[in-house]
Amino acid sequence: MTIDIHDIEQLLEQQEQWRQRQAINLIASENTPSEAVRRVQNSDFMGRYAEGHPNEPGKVNRYYQGTRYIDEIERQARTEIMELFRARQADVRPISGNASNTAIALGYLRGGDTVVANSTDAGGHISHGPVGVFGRRIQNRGQVLKLGSEKSVNLHYLPLTEDHYHVDAQKTIELIERVSPQLVIMGKSLFLFPEPVSEVAAACRAKNIPLLYDGAHVLGLIAGGQFQDPLREGATWLTGSTHKTFPGPQRGVILGNLDEEGEKKFWPAADRGVFPGSSSNHHLHTLPALLVATREMKLYGRDYAAQIVRNAQALGRSLDELGTPVEARDFGYTKSHIIAVNVAQFGAGVEVAKRLEANDIIVNYNMLPGDEDPRNPSGLRIGVSEMTRYGMDEQAMGELAQLMHDAVHGQQVKEQVNKLRARYTEMQYV
Ligand SMILES: *Cc1c(COP(=O)(O)O)cnc(C)c1O
Repeated sequence: MTIDIHDIEQLLEQQEQWRQRQAINLIASENTPSEAVRRVQNSDFMGRYAEGHPNEPGKVNRYYQGTRYIDEIERQARTEIMELFRARQADVRPISGNASNTAIALGYLRGGDTVVANSTDAGGHISHGPVGVFGRRIQNRGQVLKLGSEKSVNLHYLPLTEDHYHVDAQKTIELIERVSPQLVIMGKSLFLFPEPVSEVAAACRAKNIPLLYDGAHVLGLIAGGQFQDPLREGATWLTGSTHKTFPGPQRGVILGNLDEEGEKKFWPAADRGVFPGSSSNHHLHTLPALLVATREMKLYGRDYAAQIVRNAQALGRSLDELGTPVEARDFGYTKSHIIAVNVAQFGAGVEVAKRLEANDIIVNYNMLPGDEDPRNPSGLRIGVSEMTRYGMDEQAMGELAQLMHDAVHGQQVKEQVNKLRARYTEMQYV
């Protein structure tokens, strides 16, 4: 008897129709990989294991036999992603951005260590916070992380400038002098502007402190040379997701550009942290897809990333001019793929996001600086990577802004949204 999977297939088909044809997706952490990236994931590798590193002539680095083809793919993926990012080190085994961060936390930190990172309401990722892997890792057994009480604090937040969207480099350097952390983390999830990595990395270097740059969101922009280049600015490790602005499979990566001494000092921690730390089988079937996406980015990354940033700025300007206020106006709204929209005057963030979804515009609600309750945020986070990939340009952003503005104000614009989307279904930059 064959098992009936009709219902499952039907849901897949519905999802495909909705999210690939009808809806305009503006979730900043999402993207649609190319047909080739999707196709190569369906392979024999999805049932295999390859713990360790690729075998070399005369040297066994794997814990399993039968790995000759994945060895070749993994070696090639490492080589090509190092070329793309001009990196001297790369680990392509983490299965997601969080697994990359977890590897650093497990491999490098000990209980009682001190960390400096972005707070969640400053846009930091939850993995950097007290309940995330970094917070938990440095917490001694039985200890409660008490933020803000000088005595037992060992998780400190990066000080921000008045506008709340930039890290204050001078104050950060003073903080590092004062608390001598074991690790400084820069990068975040509501990531509009580059971080002052050069200045902070110099202060870290003087005290022999590594700097982790979490580039989960902006990895594709970095690859395309359209954001800061943390490895050139002195970051010890660059971690990232390979499925946000980098339009690959759902995986992660750790990159470094360490000299021989730095490699000896800091790379083994990352290596240990990945395996046997944050992963054992590393989802082999998506590794060939990472290699495909890396090649796409080598060829098209610069154009793709540049258009993403232009589109984000255009959408920000258009929405703001229509009267749906966009954060960081004085700074041109953004230098990344993301804009932050303040919807406080139109209702709770959650409600406004639902209003947009009812019109087939998909966004997520997000805390803005000053928000206190993560379940009642006043902002929307909007990213343009996926729609840019489907060919939308600044003019399309103007049309989209009008539809969003109308939907936020309670108008029914679903039909127009579907029509606009129908004009952009062919994937570019592949
Ligand atoms: C998305 C994100 C992550 C987690 O990445 P996953 O690939 O979803 O595991 C880590 N750090 C930051 C800053 C992120 O935005």
